[in-house]
Amino acid sequence: MTDIPAIAVTGLRRSYGDQMALDAIDLEVPEGSVFSLLGPNGAGKTTMVRILSTLIRADAGEVRVCGHDVAREPGRVRAVIGVTGQFSALDDYLTGEENLLLMADLNHLGRAEGRRRTADLLDRFGLTGAARRPAVAYSGGMRRRLDLAMGLMGEPRVIFLDEPTTGLDPRSRRDMWQIVRELAGQGVTVFLTTQYLEEADQLAGRIALLDRGRLVAEGTPDELKRRVPGGHVELRFADDRAMAAAAAALGLPGGEDLLLRVPGDGGVRSLRELLARLDTAAVEVEGLTVHTPDLDDVFFAMTGAKP
Ligand code: ATP
Repeated sequence: MTDIPAIAVTGLRRSYGDQMALDAIDLEVPEGSVFSLLGPNGAGKTTMVRILSTLIRADAGEVRVCGHDVAREPGRVRAVIGVTGQFSALDDYLTGEENLLLMADLNHLGRAEGRRRTADLLDRFGLTGAARRPAVAYSGGMRRRLDLAMGLMGEPRVIFLDEPTTGLDPRSRRDMWQIVRELAGQGVTVFLTTQYLEEADQLAGRIALLDRGRLVAEGTPDELKRRVPGGHVELRFADDRAMAAAAAALGLPGGEDLLLRVPGDGGVRSLRELLARLDTAAVEVEGLTVHTPDLDDVFFAMTGAKP
């Protein structure tokens, strides 16, 4: 571990013609953490990954990966990163094993070392049994795993995962999450772009929310959730009379469809107080649901759009 951030971006701008894709972006990703860039279609996520991984240039600003400037030292940056996702290097007509061996060659590993790492990665990603099958015959989840294994051949310090689970079934998605957690546990910095709020919530230590090229929020998942009002307890009643009595007891204007929303954090203490007040007023409650703000609420509040 060093004090140098894995990724440091200041004043980054990039446009395509007159279309601004990234506007005045500042962000820092500490080494060994999982960072998620979250945003709807067209927010600029892929453009960001492309710049960070030296595939395209920024128009302005400074971008460093492991201390290396992406514009002035692209070779050094490429030596410490792995990229997987939308620009997969996977060749359909080669077997899983051949794909990995090709990556080993591209990384200038010797023959013996290349074979050793290939066997190791096939094993780690549950692909040993399918090693001799062409990648075209792999399922979506297997392809993603192979793609990620290829990205790890060079033992990168920073790995970019561009929407790694888009289109995967829930089981394969969870497998991929487990792999990401293991990588992070080994000290690899993971830069993850996703449209899935749950994915960012599950994996990332910090999340940045990108909307139309601008960072609109950044923080830990909990910090972001705290910034959004929306926590409430929903009470359900058997009839309108009970609901009206509850609304009166709680000083609320009323509810709809036998449901009454009571703003609050849903903590044990406030729930107890709420039920005690209803008890005192002799109001029967049929059921209740606690709603704590989730990243969906954050997303909606910050971008005005459902992802
Ligand atoms: P998605 O989730 O759909 O992949 P994204 O967040 O990755 O979206 P980008 O692909 O970075 O977003 O696109 C950001 C903006 O830049 C969009 O408005 C897009 O239309 C535009 N854009 C991206 N690539 C190009 C290009 N090669 N030429 C012109 N405009 C582009």
